[in-house]
Amino acid sequence: MTPPLAMVFLGPPGAGKGTYCKEITAHYGCPQVSTGDMFRLAVKEGTAIGAKAKVYMDQGALVPDEVVLEVVRGRLGHADCREHGIILDGFPRTLAQADALPELLGSIGLSLDLVVNLQVGHDILIRRLTGRRMCRSCSRGNFNIYSLPPKREGICDYCGGELYQRDDDRLDVIENRLAVYHKQTSPLVDYYRGRGLLRDMEVGSGDIQVLAGAILAEIASSLKSRG
Ligand SMILES: [Zn+2]
Repeated sequence: MTPPLAMVFLGPPGAGKGTYCKEITAHYGCPQVSTGDMFRLAVKEGTAIGAKAKVYMDQGALVPDEVVLEVVRGRLGHADCREHGIILDGFPRTLAQADALPELLGSIGLSLDLVVNLQVGHDILIRRLTGRRMCRSCSRGNFNIYSLPPKREGICDYCGGELYQRDDDRLDVIENRLAVYHKQTSPLVDYYRGRGLLRDMEVGSGDIQVLAGAILAEIASSLKSRG
């Protein structure tokens, strides 16, 4: 039985966090939980805090720290976290949330083991995100004009449907999303670096499995040093 793992996963949009989380989940059994997932669950369960969060989400407004913390507390109360731990994705977002995290984890006997910070070169990210093309007609059609081009330009390989670029994959939107990400994340990076918890991991153009292996090795070494 692997010990429960508590980690924070930082990485810009397009870094491929989901892919790496799948590997960690397969190994440690802990759920990957994003802020969005937590909010959706709280809303679905009809909790008071879920209803409160929904008001802000419906307005497209930032959910205040104390509401976010209540939602995270609720999610940590589920049995899967107690048994296997948690991979936090998109939380903490602010230093106040980061300050509150040890107590939240401590309430179910966990402590933060490490923070993995995926780093991706700007040009690689831009190509990944602006190169995406989706099919209008089927859900399988998901291409990238640079790394996974369709056989015929603009046409889905699976159904012959028309390919298009999502509005939020356009260059100006992407540049803005990345700027917001870096502005929001850099104080957290410094915070966790100062506490010796940060592990920078470089996403290159190389093999996904190699980096996944390196991340798993970092996790294993952090768990070992728990003593
Ligand atoms: Zn298609």
